[in-house]
Amino acid sequence: MSSDYEQVEVPAAGSKISYEDGSLEVPDDPILPIIYGDGVGSDVGPAAQAVLEAAAEATGREINWMRVYAGESARERYGEDVHLPEETVRAYEEFRVGIKGPLTTPVGSGFRSLNVALRKELDTYANVRPTYHLEGVPSPVKAPEEMDMITFRENTEDVYAGIEWEAGTDEVERVREFVEEEMGADDVIHDGPVGIGIKPITEFGSKRLIRRAIDYALEHDRDSVTLVHKGNIMKFTEAQFRDWGYEVAEEEYGEEVITEDTLWEERDGEPPEDAVVVNDRIADNMLQQILTRTDEYDVVATMNLNGDYMSDACGAQIGGLGIAPGGNFGDGMMLAEPVHGSAPKYEGQDKVNPTAMILSGRMMLEYMGWYDAADLVRDAVEETISEGLVTYDLERQLEDAEKLATSEFAEEVVNNIEKLA
Ligand code: NAP
Repeated sequence: MSSDYEQVEVPAAGSKISYEDGSLEVPDDPILPIIYGDGVGSDVGPAAQAVLEAAAEATGREINWMRVYAGESARERYGEDVHLPEETVRAYEEFRVGIKGPLTTPVGSGFRSLNVALRKELDTYANVRPTYHLEGVPSPVKAPEEMDMITFRENTEDVYAGIEWEAGTDEVERVREFVEEEMGADDVIHDGPVGIGIKPITEFGSKRLIRRAIDYALEHDRDSVTLVHKGNIMKFTEAQFRDWGYEVAEEEYGEEVITEDTLWEERDGEPPEDAVVVNDRIADNMLQQILTRTDEYDVVATMNLNGDYMSDACGAQIGGLGIAPGGNFGDGMMLAEPVHGSAPKYEGQDKVNPTAMILSGRMMLEYMGWYDAADLVRDAVEETISEGLVTYDLERQLEDAEKLATSEFAEEVVNNIEKLA
């Protein structure tokens, strides 16, 4: 076991998860790195830890946590300029499966998103965000149970790639000159200061993400994969993503995958049994469709920015960001991460809902093949909420519910794990 970490304590007990020939070997006592995160991370991190530990124990296993640092906690240990230490990235690379809380990104100036940097460093190219309704959770829509979607969001490119130049710099003027004089886009950019960003969408990045979404749909008996894009406007990036998606569907699978066009041309709209239908929707339409035709959507594959917007909107329909889980997946690597951010105004108040972080941990348990422990976590969370024991975000929408602190809610979930096990 490597122990050349400076500020990080490698647990004395526990074993490493390994990955060989495309398959993950998970011991019963894995070492799992965890970043609590900024803001409310210091509340939801320990809460999720307690619940996941209890679920592991109840199913005859043991989690050995390895605390690693990013954001504020890294600056405190490694120095003011170190936002994402090299050894944090190395820990996730070495131990392969882990979890993280939210990290703050300053708007405008300051350092770039550590979340984006970590996903890119680890090449966890698919940000997977399931949105399903838990019984008893209040929602702003009439039929929240119709929402059972899973969004595969490309995690390494798009306008998130960080290729942009600030107004007033020499660099941005050189890019403007190149675009206007060499690429012929004159009369497009207004005179005066301008900021310019680049949106790379590659065949490689698009196809591996879409493949993953289709594979998931096939393995989990889902009916459709919807490619969400704004290809009517961004013809050479977002429309290309759609076209590469249809190429994957048509060229890499047999009869079990069929495109919507073929379905109508050849089968009068009637899909073959057990087939996955691949279709596409324009992003703005899709944002209203998830509200008006919720039950028609199943698995979604989309680019980075669309995926970010869409999954927050889906999260709202099933009870808000306090509930919505997520995970970043690479090849033989997974980093669980809730959809929500660091909610700085609630920092240190032991107040927010840890469910999103707990259910992200549940995705991690599933990835490790610990399905019994994962089911236990979901059942115990659902049971706790059904008993009317909830945090502030749900309590304000429910009659007769009891408002609990983050840590109290986690304790109740642990109690229910022990009861249900
Ligand atoms: P946010 O932190 O997600 O919070 C927005 C609102 O969502 C909160 O004010 C709260 O709403 C609700 N909320 C979030 N987490 C909750 C929880 N666990 N329980 C209950 N309610 C919850 O979004 P933000 O304020 O836009 O962003 C704050 C910082 O987080 C920014 O620096 C941003 O860059 C960062 N961020 C990080 C990640 C990440 O680490 N992956 C993701 C998104 C944003 P109410 O006040 O209405 O109750």
